[in-house]
Amino acid sequence: MNQVKAKKQLGQHFLTDENIAERIARSLTGRSRCLLEIGPGMGVLTKYLIGDERYHFAAIELDRESVDYLAVHYPELRVIEGDFLRLDLSSLFSESELSDGISIIGNFPYNISSQILFRVFEHRDMVPEVVGMFQKEVAERVAAAPGSKTYGILSVLLTAFYDIEYLFTVHEHVFNPPPKVKSAVIRLKRNGVNRLDCDEKLFVQVVKTAFNQRRKTLRNALKPLNCSLDAIDDTILAKRAEQLSVQDFVGITKTIDVNR
Ligand code: SAH
Repeated sequence: MNQVKAKKQLGQHFLTDENIAERIARSLTGRSRCLLEIGPGMGVLTKYLIGDERYHFAAIELDRESVDYLAVHYPELRVIEGDFLRLDLSSLFSESELSDGISIIGNFPYNISSQILFRVFEHRDMVPEVVGMFQKEVAERVAAAPGSKTYGILSVLLTAFYDIEYLFTVHEHVFNPPPKVKSAVIRLKRNGVNRLDCDEKLFVQVVKTAFNQRRKTLRNALKPLNCSLDAIDDTILAKRAEQLSVQDFVGITKTIDVNR
């Protein structure tokens, strides 16, 4: 891969507005003692995080050039050169530091936004809080309520375990280079739900299958699951995935589970 192409795949849009950087950093509510920044780049956000005494802080950055820049300008920063999607979260801090998990922050690389969010979902018992900038459309999707057009798989999965707030919108002009779309900052705070009242693996499968054909009623959309839907309420089966709450999906999962 040539260098220009490789750089492009890093999703680099550097934030140039210090006020916004500070505002993002201040949105953390101190729910854990460990904090990880994904993709610090040239450190615009990092500089407001290093001094935050609530946290043991580390950052992970894939781009060698940025890592070198950070080493020079922020010698006290603990930066790991690597891919967040391959990072073993439990390896970053000592066991005692980790007892209340790791919060995650970043102006995220937009090309891997969904993958970052799925990882958060998978590590939900380790990640009490996420404050992050995404492309506006993804932020809206994650924060969407049932019934809205943008409500989707990630909205359901994350809402099951996090309280999600859309904090503010960010204009494309405050980035270098400016992205094609607007951005937005959202905050996810782990809710009190430890386990869903159903088979969680099946729940994920049901949600994904239902949204795979989101325009169809559930009666049709859930056919690929290959199991009897007879015990599910007709009024639910006549709805589409985007009309259902987390509780509705839990209910469907339980019914399917006992009848399979
Ligand atoms: N936080 C900086 C940079 C944001 S751009 C700012 O606000 O200005 C996104 C950053 O994520 C880039 O620096 C890019 O190199 C880095 N990045 C891209 N993919 C990554 C991955 N898989 N893991 C860690 N960092 C990644």
